[in-house]
Amino acid sequence: LRFEMQNSEKLRVISELTSVFAHEIRNPMQVTRGFLQLLNEPDLPNKKKEYIQMSIDELDRANEIINDFLSFGKPSINNHERIDVGYQLQRVVNIIQSYSLNHNVEIKTDFLNNCWIYANPQKLHQSLINILKNAVESMPNGGIVWFSCTSTDDGYIKITIKDQGIGMTKKQLDQLGSPFYSLKESGTGLGMMVSFQIVRSFKGKVEVNSEKDRGTEFIILLPQVV
Ligand code: ADP
Ligand code: MG
Repeated sequence: LRFEMQNSEKLRVISELTSVFAHEIRNPMQVTRGFLQLLNEPDLPNKKKEYIQMSIDELDRANEIINDFLSFGKPSINNHERIDVGYQLQRVVNIIQSYSLNHNVEIKTDFLNNCWIYANPQKLHQSLINILKNAVESMPNGGIVWFSCTSTDDGYIKITIKDQGIGMTKKQLDQLGSPFYSLKESGTGLGMMVSFQIVRSFKGKVEVNSEKDRGTEFIILLPQVV
């Protein structure tokens, strides 16, 4: 039996499900966090205090994951602001650094100063982190990721993320960004869909060039503001 949903239908279902999950899971997590804080009395042995703090930190981490997935379920909230691209890209590098070093991947950067776009910084981070994570994961033996930004003559900021990884065939490239498309053993297949949607919400464009066994290049164009 074959059953296929259209992408727009899948998107709607995912978006509804994530909102429901997020709210249903957040409540018990908040309650648990509250009780853990109550347990954390000053005269407890250090080991116990440490375990309680670890539990609280892990709950906070889980909450962040939920935040990430929620953000694409709510495209209507557009709290955009004027942001310095180079500064934000450096923050993204700081976030992804330990992950890339763990995978023997070096991120080489070249960011232009004083270029401004109109966007939501958290969403921009999320979009770029998803792309950078894939770049790192595409190189099982490590390598270099080039991460740069320049401005174009026709008024765009051009962000480039280039890896030397496993690359994609034309057919694989065509499926990139469709919900649940993943070739990874434990992939969600949601990263690219989220990234593309975020760039679109900034009135930007994404172009992907890839060659099997050679590498992949993501080019993001965002309207520059003064
Ligand atoms: P996930 O990473 O969970 O698999 P994504 O939506 O982030 O989901 O990516 C979907 C698929 O696209 C990946 O499983 C991978 O096959 C392919 N892909 C994405 N980025 C790259 C890249 N830089 N190099 C090679 N393949 C990639
Ligand atoms: Mg991914």
